[in-house]
Amino acid sequence: MKLILSLLFFSFFLHIVSCSNNKADRIFINGLIYSLDEKSSVYEAIAIQNGIIVDLGTSAEISSKYSNAEKIDLNGKVMFPGFIDAHGHISGYGDNLLEINLVGTSSQEEIAALVKEKVSQVNPGDWIAGHGWDQNDWKEKGWPDHKILDQAAPNNPVYLTRIDGHALWVNKKALELAGITKDTKDPSGGDIKRDAIGIPTGVLIDNAMSLVYKVLPDVTDEMIQRTVLASVQNLATHGITSAHDMGVSSRTIEIMKKLADEGKLPLRIHAYIDGPGKTWNEYLEKGSVIGYGNNFVTVRGIKLFVDGAMGSRGALMSQPYNDDPKNSGLMLMSEDEIYKVTNDALKKGFQVATHGIGDKGINLIFNAYERAIKENEKKDHRLRIEHVQVIDPADVERFSKNGIIPSMQPVHATSDMPWAEARLGTERVKWSYAPKLVLKGSPIIAGGSDFPVESPSVLEGIYAGVTRQDKNGYPRSWLDVMWLVENKMWVISKAGIPDTTLFEGGWYPDQRLSVQEAVNEFTKWAAYAAFEESKKGTIEVGKWADFTILDKDIMTIPPKEILNTNVVMTVVDGKIVYEKK
Ligand SMILES: [Zn+2]
Repeated sequence: MKLILSLLFFSFFLHIVSCSNNKADRIFINGLIYSLDEKSSVYEAIAIQNGIIVDLGTSAEISSKYSNAEKIDLNGKVMFPGFIDAHGHISGYGDNLLEINLVGTSSQEEIAALVKEKVSQVNPGDWIAGHGWDQNDWKEKGWPDHKILDQAAPNNPVYLTRIDGHALWVNKKALELAGITKDTKDPSGGDIKRDAIGIPTGVLIDNAMSLVYKVLPDVTDEMIQRTVLASVQNLATHGITSAHDMGVSSRTIEIMKKLADEGKLPLRIHAYIDGPGKTWNEYLEKGSVIGYGNNFVTVRGIKLFVDGAMGSRGALMSQPYNDDPKNSGLMLMSEDEIYKVTNDALKKGFQVATHGIGDKGINLIFNAYERAIKENEKKDHRLRIEHVQVIDPADVERFSKNGIIPSMQPVHATSDMPWAEARLGTERVKWSYAPKLVLKGSPIIAGGSDFPVESPSVLEGIYAGVTRQDKNGYPRSWLDVMWLVENKMWVISKAGIPDTTLFEGGWYPDQRLSVQEAVNEFTKWAAYAAFEESKKGTIEVGKWADFTILDKDIMTIPPKEILNTNVVMTVVDGKIVYEKK
């Protein structure tokens, strides 16, 4: 009896010892764990407790030290610090996900079937939206009419946006709700397609589309919540554990906070307020929100725009566009206006992230930031410039000089390369979409995708950054460049032929990043851009247990294989939020 008691006591004693010293609720073993710490340490196993990393080591060490913890065998899979997208739009991406995606559909029947499927998922009377149809892809290339949509959706109004955004295809229910009849006049700048006797057929062009937009139901909180959830749940499947959301309304922020309270967010949101105005004034008054809801929602910055985009020639350039010699782009905010907002922000501990695509626009942002920094010295401000697509090489050093952070999207380079040179000309294009040039003047670049403008896949971003090729591997050789020229997707240089050496293995291959640099963009550099480098971005004891687990070792496989790599698990705050089945 005495022996049993003492044994019991002894085991109880052991239990206390093991609990107090070696406590973990979950361990991952048999992995290849890239910590990305100062020494680039690589581990086999990791222990976490209450969402925090508590230990790292070999599988044998971690298994024996934490024998009571739940054990997850990684079976040789590869773990990285949780991927961070430093520039995206959560609600916009959710809207796209909830609409029917019609890109690539090849017939009216195929589209009607997709609409019918959607009808089965919604309530009678709910509006159904879709986007991306193109009658040029159909056998019958004329405009469609509402009849086939009426059969698919007799009780739901339907509006489907054409791929270019300049036409709506609607059903009868939508025409009725919009009050569009034989007697409705075409609005100015708009066209209501009609049959031989003047009855609207269900296609509305340009300004006529607003007749439908006007009668769409008001957005409810429930709809915003559904959109945000659809978005973040999808982002988690791409291994994204934190997203910097660029331009968010106060209403959406409140809904995100509610979702955080309810434990429904599978990733952490770092929201930037959508420009000066009511929400911004409100936040200047009440101050930033840092780590709300167990560190799932942070609001400590504002998003501004100095200019527009390159595709529409809205980026503000110091010299006119090559293919539009009278146009130098648009200035959406002046240097003074940016300075004023930045000054307010720095005084109240907020960060500013300004969209800057053209070289003149970026130059103005630097000027404005530098003035505000001078008045707020000693502050750790981490002002950001978003996109940095065309930068005067002389401006590059202003990043490190002032602690200003460039935020770039590697996929923009490969998406825009078919026409970027036509816009910019053969000289200016060399300092455009140029991360290696930017890294000469900045120790870091925060990496992002700009979802939904591009896919949120971080692996696609890393691939584009490393190869400077699109998903089909273009441009990979002289022959590929000739193909682009033949298809009028490339301007030929003054000499009459493209400089083929430039295109060997990617578009301006001198701007290719190493895999290490590209991974840093989406992990520790993005964490720094959000003041969170002490909590995430590397795998180290004391940091948050946010991980992305892949089925291939992207650090060592041939770069083209990065596109065939899968996210197999996403872990946020120690919990598995996504697992590939
Ligand atoms: Zn954006």
